[in-house]
Amino acid sequence: ELLLESVFLSVDPYMRPYSQRDMKEGDIMIGTQVARIVESKNPAFTVGAFVVARSGWRTHFISDGKDLQHFPSNWPESLPKSLALGTVGMPGLTAYFGLLEVCKVKPGETVLVNAAAGAVGSVVGQLAKIGGCKVVGCAGSDDKVAYLKKIGFDEAFNYKTVTSLDEALRKASPDGYDCFFDNVGGEFASIAINQMKKYGRIAVCGAISQYNVSVPQKGPYMQVPMIFQELQMKGFIVTRWNNRWEEGLKALLKWVVEGKVKCHEHVTEGFENMPTAFIGMLKGENIGKAIVKV
Ligand code: NDP
Repeated sequence: ELLLESVFLSVDPYMRPYSQRDMKEGDIMIGTQVARIVESKNPAFTVGAFVVARSGWRTHFISDGKDLQHFPSNWPESLPKSLALGTVGMPGLTAYFGLLEVCKVKPGETVLVNAAAGAVGSVVGQLAKIGGCKVVGCAGSDDKVAYLKKIGFDEAFNYKTVTSLDEALRKASPDGYDCFFDNVGGEFASIAINQMKKYGRIAVCGAISQYNVSVPQKGPYMQVPMIFQELQMKGFIVTRWNNRWEEGLKALLKWVVEGKVKCHEHVTEGFENMPTAFIGMLKGENIGKAIVKV
C-alpha cells in the first residue's frame, strides 16, 4: 500500500448530478486529484512521484496502487501537474473523443460549442481549429469572450447579454452549423438545434443548465428539426473510450507542449475552499479548468 497526499484537486460539474444520484450524507465527496506519494510499500510507486487518483475530497489517503494513474514519462518538468485534471486529463479527453468520435468533425465544417471558455469547451474549440474547422463559441462573460478570441475561436459571444440567442447564432454563422458540441442543454440547445445544417451532428456532452433544476422543464421539443434536417444527436460519457485513454492523452500532451493548445486554470487556494470553488465553478467564475491547490 501507499500513503498519498493531494496536491491539486478537481471540481467538476459531474459532481452535482452524480452526488445527487449516488451519495448520502456523510459519504466522502467524489472527485479526482493529483497526489504525491508520501510513503510506499509498493515497488511500482516511488516516494515523491506524482499520480492521478480518484480518492474524493481528501487531503491524504491510502491506496493499493490499482486505481492510480502514472504521469506519462515524457511529461515536461515545466508543465504544471494540475493539467492532468484538465486539458491533459479527463476534460481534454472528453473534448477529444467527443469531437472525433461523436461529432466526427471534418475540415471545413462549422462547429458550435457552449460553456466554451470552460475546461472541456476551450479544448473543443482549439481541437476543432487544429482539425481545420470554423469555430463558434459562447460563454457567460465578456472576459470569457475575449479569452475565446485570444485562443483562436473565429466567433464568440456572451450568451447572457445578447438580445436574441437565435440572432447571435445566425450572425456568427449565417449558413448554420455542421456540429454542435453541447455542454449546456436546456433552452440553449433547443434554440441552437434549429440552426443545424442538413445531416448535422450534435454531441450531447453535458446539461449543466439542468443540473440544479428541481422541477423538470418542458419543451420546445426537438423532433421536427431532427427530422427535417436529418440530424444525429448522441449522448456520451468519456469513459466509453477508457481503452484509448493513452492515445488521447498522448495527442493532447503533444499539442500542449507544441503550444497548439493553450491552457488556462482558475486556481483556488486551500483545501478548506473546495465547496466555494465547486459552487463558484457552477456559477461560471472559472476561465479554463477550475482547480483547488491544497
Ligand atoms: P466548465 O469548466 O465549463 O465549468 C462549468 C461552466 O458551465 C461554467 O463556467 C459556466 O460558464 C457554465 N454554466 C454554468 N451554469 C450554466 C447554465 N445554467 N447555463 C449555461 N452555462 C452554464 O466545466 P467542464 O468543462 O468540466 O464541463 C462542461 C460540461 O461538460 C458540463 O456539462 C459537464 O457535465 C460536461 N462533461 C461531460 C463529460 C462526459 O463524459 N459526457 C465529461 C466532462 C464534462 P458560463 O460563464 O459560460 O456560463
